[in-house]
Amino acid sequence: MSESPAAVDVLGCRLDCVDIEEATARILSYARGTHPAQVVTLGTEMVVAAQRDARFRATLAASALNVCDTVGVLAAARRRGARIAARVTGVELLERLCAAAAREGLPIYLLGGAPGVAIEAARVLAERYPGLRVAGADDGYFPPERANAVAEAIARSGARLLFVGLGSPRQEFWLAEHLAQSGAGAGIGVGGAFDALIGRVPRAPESWRRLNLEWLYRLLREPHRWRRQLALPHFVALMLFDELRTSLGGRQHR
Ligand code: UDP
Repeated sequence: MSESPAAVDVLGCRLDCVDIEEATARILSYARGTHPAQVVTLGTEMVVAAQRDARFRATLAASALNVCDTVGVLAAARRRGARIAARVTGVELLERLCAAAAREGLPIYLLGGAPGVAIEAARVLAERYPGLRVAGADDGYFPPERANAVAEAIARSGARLLFVGLGSPRQEFWLAEHLAQSGAGAGIGVGGAFDALIGRVPRAPESWRRLNLEWLYRLLREPHRWRRQLALPHFVALMLFDELRTSLGGRQHR
């Protein structure tokens, strides 16, 4: 059987073919190291957004690790030959990394969400993972002119693992610009993971998730998201177009 490629291209965005264990191990090694590494949880909407935003494309290309966050990206990656068992979501990464951080004594920092959300998420994590060192937590509604001060506060906290839930693309841009300044070894964009963790936005039940229907559950719970969810049919159309173009190109070269 052929090996799974290390990374595949999904509509111009690099996706690293890692499962949750491999992603966790790599991020922990970034956190212990001295070279700051950005991690992206790549979703369907992000790939669609990258089509028309060159700065966002460059940010995704420059990040150390892009993991597969959604079923759309997973299906596309598998069509490109990737062997990835399942999605690697922000919530799951957050939990796994905190479990390991508690064992290893790596301090974490949570940045993002409405006022109080990150602090509450930190409380939940500290309770769930005894020994976890929470270096700090701050909300995500700061004005752009405070971005440097936020990064300096993280640097003073001594955090090694920085979770950023500012929504996309704000979290990716913020990390690209400020991760080095924050002093953390790893900076991971986790979207609405803090809200999910504290039950502010309930996650789909296990059975729905197994059927890959988390998107439908979220749509039913938060109907205002319908416009954002148009990204999925848009993504499918772009993929089909891309495959058609590739197969026509291939035939012409024969
Ligand atoms: N958010 C933030 N600052 C902002 C905009 C959004 O901290 O300026 C937070 C928001 O409160 C939520 C998260 O970013 O916790 C984005 O959640 P969303 O569900 O939109 O992200 P997704 O997981 O879909 O990328």
